[in-house]
Amino acid sequence: MDMPLITFTDRGMHCAAADVYIDPWRPVQRAIITHAHSDHARPGMGSYLCHEHSAPLLRHRLGSGIAVEGIPYGERRVINGVTFSLHPAGHVIGSAQVRVEHRGEVWVASGDYKVENDGLTPPFEAVRCNTFITECTFGVPVYIWQPQAVIFEEINAWWRANASEGICTVLSAYSLGKAQRIMANVDTSIGPILTHGAVEGCNAAIREAGIELPETIPLTRETDPALIKGALVIAPGSAVDTPWANKLRPYSSGIASGWMQVRGWRRRSAVDRGFALSDHADWPGLNAAVRASGAERVITTHGYTDLFSRWLNEQGIASHTEKTAFKGEEVLAATDEESTA
Ligand SMILES: [Zn+2]
Ligand SMILES: [Zn+2]
Repeated sequence: MDMPLITFTDRGMHCAAADVYIDPWRPVQRAIITHAHSDHARPGMGSYLCHEHSAPLLRHRLGSGIAVEGIPYGERRVINGVTFSLHPAGHVIGSAQVRVEHRGEVWVASGDYKVENDGLTPPFEAVRCNTFITECTFGVPVYIWQPQAVIFEEINAWWRANASEGICTVLSAYSLGKAQRIMANVDTSIGPILTHGAVEGCNAAIREAGIELPETIPLTRETDPALIKGALVIAPGSAVDTPWANKLRPYSSGIASGWMQVRGWRRRSAVDRGFALSDHADWPGLNAAVRASGAERVITTHGYTDLFSRWLNEQGIASHTEKTAFKGEEVLAATDEESTA
């Protein structure tokens, strides 16, 4: 039997025929990157190939000196006879599934993805393949997301109530992805949006990629306290309930994370409000993506891998888990640059 098109090595997912790695976790010569979260885009690679919207984010996070090339979705790159192309993953700005084709066989490495259209990121596109490599952060049936319109109505109502009482609203979220999804979907007529530096850094890279975001005001020591009162502050979780947040008092705090679907996590998170909003696919989303891929084999990489693989086996789809260095969504989400998911 021929060697599989992609193998799992101690450096990452390796396409030996092209000598290219996908989202490697140790330094390699040539890397294709699904998206700019730090567990997928790591420093030290000889060169980076990614979606064109990810390129400014990679420079922002890994340094302006890296060798990075950005390409549009659907463009084909032939490397040593292997054809690579990127397709929307719907996870965060610039996120891509990597399609790999060699001698009539097609593999797709999903990276992280969600199937709901978030109104900012180009929506997930099903790509037909023989083997689908999938995350399954929320690969158990309890995780079923409500439509984001419902969640944003809750967030708006909370913000509006706080603003009417002169209380600041502090929502913690990943600085890349969730933060921009929130600012693009909340009702900006309620008040101004203030941002933590880690969030604003990502905003700048995203605007540099040519994507429009609503107006945001970087929060500094000099920010007018009158402005803070009715504002929505978006910050990584690591900043909330630290001295950084002192000048925001009094405030109401919230977290936007898929884990907030489960009551136990909501209680333990020590914030006033939890909103179940995730940039990862829920249980129906994972199943829909697997079915739409038409894959006869599914490899699970991070999350509830064994459970999801077993479920797929029961559905007649060959599936097994491979060990990787990818992380799921963190519970108290959103530590900043070093955060993941
Ligand atoms: Zn991610
Ligand atoms: Zn991830």
